Amino acid sequence: MVTAIPQDYRNRPVAVVGAGTLGRRIALMFATRGGQVNITDPNAEQGEQGVVYAMGELPAVAARVDGGTAGTVGYVRDQAEAVQDAWLVVEAVPEKLELKKQIFAQLEQDCPADAIISSNSSSYASRLFTEDLRTNDRMLNTHFYMPPAAITLDVMSDGHTAPEVIDFVLRTFPEYGLRPFHCRKESTGFIFNRIWAALKRESLEVVYAGVSVPEDVDAMFSMNFGTKAGPFRMMDQVGLDVVLDIEEHYAQENPQLPEGPRILLREYIADGKLGVKSGAGFYDDYPKPS
Ligand code: NAD
Repeated sequence: MVTAIPQDYRNRPVAVVGAGTLGRRIALMFATRGGQVNITDPNAEQGEQGVVYAMGELPAVAARVDGGTAGTVGYVRDQAEAVQDAWLVVEAVPEKLELKKQIFAQLEQDCPADAIISSNSSSYASRLFTEDLRTNDRMLNTHFYMPPAAITLDVMSDGHTAPEVIDFVLRTFPEYGLRPFHCRKESTGFIFNRIWAALKRESLEVVYAGVSVPEDVDAMFSMNFGTKAGPFRMMDQVGLDVVLDIEEHYAQENPQLPEGPRILLREYIADGKLGVKSGAGFYDDYPKPS
C-alpha cells in the first residue's frame, strides 16, 4: 500500500533507468527546476553520452520552463545507488517485457517507500510487469513522446495505482515543462501512440508494397498536414529497432495486422540502419556516431 505520496519532492532527486534516446530526454526535463537527476545504465558509454546530451540542452530548455533553472544530470552506474533518495524513478530500458519485470521488482526493493515508479514503455501496460508486486499502487505508465520538442505524455494506471499517485503526477509534471494526459482506461498504445502506430504501419506498408518511397510519403504528409517531418523521418528519430519491437507487440495482440511493415523494418535493421542513433535509417544524412 502507498503510505504517502512523495514528501519534499523538490529537494530529492529523480532517477531515470536507461540512458538511451528517451531516458536522456526524460532526465533533461526533470533537471529544469534546479534539482538533481541520476541516470543509471549498465552501459557506461551510454550513461555518459546521456549526461552530455542532457547537460548540453539544459540551459535552453530550463529557460523555456516557467520558473525553470538548470539543475544537474549525473551518471550513476549502480541502480540501487541512483534511486536511493529519489521521489520519482522512470524506467526507460529497451522494450522487453522480461527485462522490465526484473527492473520493476528490483526497484521495488531499492526505492524509498514513497517513491513513484513509472515506465516509459511504448506498448506494454505497466500491469504486465507490476501485477505480482507488493507496492504496485505507486507504479504506473508515464509514456513520454520526444521531449523537449514534444512535451506531452500519457499517464496510465497499472490497475492498482492509487488515485492520489495519478493526481500527484498530473499536478507536478507540468512544473517540469511537461503536459501529461490521463488515459482513462487501460489501452495498449495509450492515447496518441495508438494513433501514431496506425500511421507508421500504413506508411511502411505503402513502401513495402512498392507504391511509394519514404521521401515521397514524408513530403506528401508534411505538405498535407503542415508538419515539419513525415512518418519515415520520425521513425528514424525513434530508432527502427524500437519501432519494430513496438509493432511486434501490437502484432502479437492482433495477428490480423499486415506483416509487410515488420519485414521492411527487419531489412533496414539487418543492414545496421537503425535511424539517427546509428547514422542512417530511411535517410542517411545523420551524423555518424563516434
Ligand atoms: P534505447 O535503446 O535508445 O535505450 C535503452 C537504454 O537502456 C540503453 O542505453 C541501454 O544500455 C539501457 N539498458 C539496457 N538494459 C538496462 C538495464 N538493465 N538497466 C538500465 N539500463 C539498461 O531505447 P529508447 O528508445 O530510449 O526506449 C526505451 C523505452 O522507451 C522503451 O520502452 C521504448 O518503448 C520507450 N519509448 C521510446 C520512444 C522512442 O521514440 N525511442 C518513445 C517513447 C517511449
